[in-house]
Amino acid sequence: MFINEDYINGLLEQARGASKEEIQQVLKKAEKRAGLSHKDIAVLLQIEDEKQLKEMYKLAGEIKESIYGKRIVIFAPLYVSDYCVNNCVYCGYKRCNKFTRRKLTQEEVAEEVRLLEKMGHKRIALELGEDPVNNPIEYVIECLDTIYKTQNSNGEIRRANVNIAATTVDNYRRLKEAGIGTYILFQETYHKPTYEFMHPKSIKGNYDYHTTAFDRAMEGGIDDVGAGVLFGLADPKFEVLGLMIHNEHLEEKFGVGFHTISVPRLKPAEGMNLKDFPHLLRDEEFKKIVAVIRIAVPFTGIILSTRENEDMRRELLKYGVSQMSAGSSTGVGGYKAREAGESVEQFKTSDERAPLDILKELIGDGYIPSYCTACYRMGRTGDRFMSLAKSGNIQYVCEPNALTTLMEYALDYGDEELRKKTEALIKARSEEISRDDIKRIVIDNVKKLKAGERDLYL
Ligand code: SF4
Ligand code: SF4
Repeated sequence: MFINEDYINGLLEQARGASKEEIQQVLKKAEKRAGLSHKDIAVLLQIEDEKQLKEMYKLAGEIKESIYGKRIVIFAPLYVSDYCVNNCVYCGYKRCNKFTRRKLTQEEVAEEVRLLEKMGHKRIALELGEDPVNNPIEYVIECLDTIYKTQNSNGEIRRANVNIAATTVDNYRRLKEAGIGTYILFQETYHKPTYEFMHPKSIKGNYDYHTTAFDRAMEGGIDDVGAGVLFGLADPKFEVLGLMIHNEHLEEKFGVGFHTISVPRLKPAEGMNLKDFPHLLRDEEFKKIVAVIRIAVPFTGIILSTRENEDMRRELLKYGVSQMSAGSSTGVGGYKAREAGESVEQFKTSDERAPLDILKELIGDGYIPSYCTACYRMGRTGDRFMSLAKSGNIQYVCEPNALTTLMEYALDYGDEELRKKTEALIKARSEEISRDDIKRIVIDNVKKLKAGERDLYL
C-alpha cells in the first residue's frame, strides 16, 4: 500500500517544530514554483502566524490565477438512488437509517435532467449509493445514456462525471465506453484505523480495495479521476499528505494524477451527531488546507460544494477553488421535490441560492462563471490535459470558452441584469486577451450565439 501511516505521522511530527525561518524558506520555494517535498507540505500545514498565513493565501491566489485565470467552472450533482448497503457513520444514506429508499426510473432521471437543464447546467456529477442489487453498473450506464440523450430546448448535459463506489477494472471500462467524464471517488479518510471505524461491517470497509480504486479505473481506461477526503473524520493535515502521496502514486504509475480534488467538510446528517467527531475543522484551518492544496498541486482543479455557505465559498475562490456547484439538491429526485417544496437530502447544504444569483455574484467579484466542457469533448483528458495545463497554455482555451459559455447561458437563462453584466465582462476581458486570434474567436462566438448557434468551444 502506497499510504504509509508511520511515514505520514513522522512527517507531521518533524514539521511540528518548524521555526518561522524554516516556514519562510518553504514559502520562498513555493513562490519560485519549485516542486514541494512531502516535508515542505507538512511545514506549510503548520503555519499559524497571521503574517505568514496572509503570505500563503496571497501566493495560493496568484498561483491559481496564473493557471486558471478568472474562470470558475459551474456544475450540479444529480442523485439517482439512495439505496446503499454500506453503513458509513457520517452519512444520511447509511443502511441503518430507516426511510423509504428510492431509485429513479429512466423517465424520472430524464425529468431531473430537464430541470437541471432549465437552470442552465451543462455539467453534472452523477451520484448514487453502493448497492450491487439495486444500483448495478448496468443501471449507472443506463442513467448516463438517459442524461446525454435528454434535451430541454437549448439545454443539454455535455459532461457527466460519475461518483460511484470502488469497483472492478471491467466495470470501469464499461463506464469509459459509456462516456463518463471524470470518475469521482472520495477516499473519505486516508487514516486506515479511522477509515475502518467509519465504515463498519460493509463492502466499503475494505480500505485497500477502496484506496486502489483509481489504479483499477486507470487500468480500465479512465484517465480523469477526481479525488477528495471528507474533512472532519481524521487529522486534516494527515489527509492532505495522504492526498499528495496518492496523487504522486498515480503520476508515477500512470503518468497522470488527480484531475480534481474535492474538499467537502463534514456536515450534519440524519442519524449522526457532529459532537462524535473530534477532528472537525474550524473555518481558519479549512482555508489553510485549501491554500496548501492549491500550492502543492497547482494543476489540479479544486471543487467546492454547496455544503459551504456563501461567505466561505466566496473566500475560498480566492485561495484556490476552481469549480463549484450551484443550485444543488442532494436528494434523490431532489430537483422535482424542490419544485414541490419537499426534500430528503444526503447531507445539509448551506448555499441554496439559484445559479443565476451565484453567477451575478461571481461576475461582481471579478470572476468568469464557466459552463465549459470542452477538454473532455476535444479529447484533452488525462496526460493531454495535464501537459496543456503545465505549459501555461490552458488559459488560452479556458478563458475564451468561459466567456462563450457564459454568453450562451446569459442568452438562454439570464435576465436583463445578467445579460448586461455578461456583455460588459466580455468586452472588458476580450480587450485584455493578448493573442489576437483568441480575441477574434471570442468576439465571433458572441455574434454566432446571438444569431442562434450554440455549443461553441475550442
Ligand atoms: Fe452509502 Fe456513500 Fe453514504 Fe456511505 S457515504 S452510506 S457508501 S451513500
Ligand atoms: Fe475545463 Fe478545459 Fe474548459 Fe478549461 S477549457 S474550463 S480546463 S474543460
